[in-house]
Amino acid sequence: MPMKRLEETDITGLRAALQVREAQLSAEVESAVAAERARASEGREVDAGVVDLESALRIADIRRDEVELSAIHAALTRMDRGTYGRCLSCGTHIPIERLRAEPTASLCRVCQGRAEEGHGHPQLAP
Ligand SMILES: [Zn+2]
Repeated sequence: MPMKRLEETDITGLRAALQVREAQLSAEVESAVAAERARASEGREVDAGVVDLESALRIADIRRDEVELSAIHAALTRMDRGTYGRCLSCGTHIPIERLRAEPTASLCRVCQGRAEEGHGHPQLAP
């Protein structure tokens, strides 16, 4: 069974979806950063060594959004370069079903599985 290549219309649809998500995330990060800044400036009396849990969670949210944003930017760049939809590791065509479910996917399922396996067993520092 020959692997179906991505159609231009597939890319157009995925690009639109990525851009919507990008705008959403950018707005989210922007307002979270603003809220965090306001909080930091009014909380001067708090001991600097005390990590405010709510603040830590919000910062974790911002980080996660930023990671997703950079994945989106990378995907949009690959679309511009015409390399979108190909596995970065082995060069195989990533199935459109996978890209629809996860438009930022940069690895095929095999390579993704291998990458996750690696992350699943982190080397412990001595
Ligand atoms: Zn691969």
